[in-house]
Amino acid sequence: MNIHEYQAKQLFRDYAIAVPQGAVADSPQLARRAAEQLPGSAWVVKAQIHAGARGKAGGVKVVNSWQDVAAAAENMLGRRLVTHQTDAAGLPVNSVWVEEASAIKREFYLSLLVDRESERLIFIASAAGGMDIEAVAAEAPDKIVRVPIHPAAGPQAYQGRLIAAAFGLGKEQQAQLQQILNGIYQLFVAKDCSQIEINPLIETEDGKLVALDAKINFDDNALALHPDIAALRDASQEDAKE
Ligand code: ADP
Ligand code: MG
Repeated sequence: MNIHEYQAKQLFRDYAIAVPQGAVADSPQLARRAAEQLPGSAWVVKAQIHAGARGKAGGVKVVNSWQDVAAAAENMLGRRLVTHQTDAAGLPVNSVWVEEASAIKREFYLSLLVDRESERLIFIASAAGGMDIEAVAAEAPDKIVRVPIHPAAGPQAYQGRLIAAAFGLGKEQQAQLQQILNGIYQLFVAKDCSQIEINPLIETEDGKLVALDAKINFDDNALALHPDIAALRDASQEDAKE
């Protein structure tokens, strides 16, 4: 089962993974009101659908006024958004997530998934964030770092340093990265996820690591154990035939 970005970011928050402040809205008026409550002078309006690649499809808009927040929401809500991760019919946009705009210094890729070969959870990391990891794998496979985690040990400090080195992080950010790795790992295990992907994880101009995007898939076979997660289901995003 998939969930929306705003739901995944709430779970990230629960596990002490830094995310931008934001609010979900299902009307242009509520989107504007959400921006009014948020800090800063620029905001991002993001269409909530169960697919990525929204940025290139007009589903992520950076704006500089409350009025433009409402206008961007108006443009997205009630339409279907087609991205290269959806089919030709696209997915309905029933809500938008409004968040503070971040000052991005660098974008990274980080995910945790089940590696059937090593029979472990494995972190996949790349300094080429914001891009599809499939494209990075095809064009520059050496830029991808794979770090399998021993189930009895969890993520270790030396493994955090391997990923920090791949990102080219300074000492200051290493502790932040370790906290994110631990948070993702704990969330994955606690909620029986099948994949967690942060693309991009960013370094802000003032040196903070923040999850700017959030994608979580859950193991359907374990959903009965997690009523809190099962309650996040959005049938409007699912194919009835499936
Ligand atoms: P998708 O993967 O569906 O395209 P993302 O959430 O990754 O959506 O957003 C696409 C791009 O938009 C990001 O790579 C980033 O450059 C920019 N972006 C997203 N959220 C913010 C934000 N809060 N502040 C600044 N830029 C953002
Ligand atoms: Mg993304």
